[in-house]
Amino acid sequence: MGRCYFCENATAENWFGYFCEDCRKIKNIGNIYGFKEIKDVLEKVCIRNEKQRQFKIDTKLKDSEVVVKETESVRCGILTRSKKQ
Ligand SMILES: [Zn+2]
Repeated sequence: MGRCYFCENATAENWFGYFCEDCRKIKNIGNIYGFKEIKDVLEKVCIRNEKQRQFKIDTKLKDSEVVVKETESVRCGILTRSKKQ
């Protein structure tokens, strides 16, 4: 079987097919909602600009600092039983 015409990576579903299973599903969704809608959703949801990426990085770093502080508190015995979940 040949390569998928869309992702150009996976094997096509069958000998006479042009798309792999996942790309066939994407194509079916596009047939229902329209490919412009699909493209717009992908651009708005999946593609992040530099400011959005930095915000995500800052949020993750802040979360990891909280986890480290909580872990240190537990190690030092500062966290009481009532505060544990
Ligand atoms: Zn594919």
